[in-house]
Amino acid sequence: MPKNQSSDSLVFAVDLGGTHLRVALVDDTGRILTHLKQETPKGDSAGCIVNALANAAEQWSDEKQRVVAASIMVPGAVDSDKAVVLQAPNLPSLVNFGLKAALEQRLGWPVFLENDANAAAVGEMWLGAARGCRDVMSVTLGTGVGGGVILDGKLWRGSHGSAGEIGHTTVDPFSGVKCKCGNTGCLEMFASASAIVRMTRENLSLFPKTSLTSDELTAERVYKAGLEGDELALAIFKRFGMYLGIGLANIINLIDPEIIVITGGAANGWDLFATEMYRQVEERAFRTTAQQVRIARAECGDNAGLLGAARLAQTGLT
Ligand SMILES: [Zn+2]
Repeated sequence: MPKNQSSDSLVFAVDLGGTHLRVALVDDTGRILTHLKQETPKGDSAGCIVNALANAAEQWSDEKQRVVAASIMVPGAVDSDKAVVLQAPNLPSLVNFGLKAALEQRLGWPVFLENDANAAAVGEMWLGAARGCRDVMSVTLGTGVGGGVILDGKLWRGSHGSAGEIGHTTVDPFSGVKCKCGNTGCLEMFASASAIVRMTRENLSLFPKTSLTSDELTAERVYKAGLEGDELALAIFKRFGMYLGIGLANIINLIDPEIIVITGGAANGWDLFATEMYRQVEERAFRTTAQQVRIARAECGDNAGLLGAARLAQTGLT
């Protein structure tokens, strides 16, 4: 194929986030031809979201003839038939709604649904840090913590569609920190952007020299303070790395992946948490396995999920 010419089959790929939705047309080489981002419609009805996606498709009427499928990644769990969203804390109107059927009727293409962390794992395996690997775990460190498992080249969803939920594995049952899932001491409570903010706030009084204050505290501010040597910020990221490392050591002993890909916005704190993360992995996982597994930062950035969603539709892996 000539270099600048895309293939005839495109996927209408959608990253349906709680705050923003992003839509892209992706060809079968992973090239993103066109892309748009807008606020996710707020409303009680899932119909608003269906309308927004149908309107987005209308904007690309010239390319529509080449679209062979739509693939939607959602921030939650989907049922085993990939037709209905079962759980989506940030998009409650979608829960138990027949999103696949509604979109197929409006868009006229076969529609695939996938959990967002699973799609990101596939994207990284296709075109990112896990290229060429067969056994992959991706860990998404965002507002929460998600995960996707690929075994022998195939997405492993589990018997009930909830495999890979490393964010809700217990790393400190006696911490007293309750997770919204109902458990106490989940990894998400220590290794997410919201955890950075909470842990910083809880420890402000112990570090009187810190430049951080409770006003408008964000994970990014804590990170920047850490880069400048702020002791509170450094202690928080060390704690973040410690619990992340404990979680990763558990994964390594459980599934023995070739690579663990760390993705999501909070992965930007890598320079401040990686040393402690590696230390924990070294101390806790089987020695020979820990020495061989690669733990790497993601390479596809924000597009991992869109690319993974497109790939799942192209290959019929769903
Ligand atoms: Zn939890």
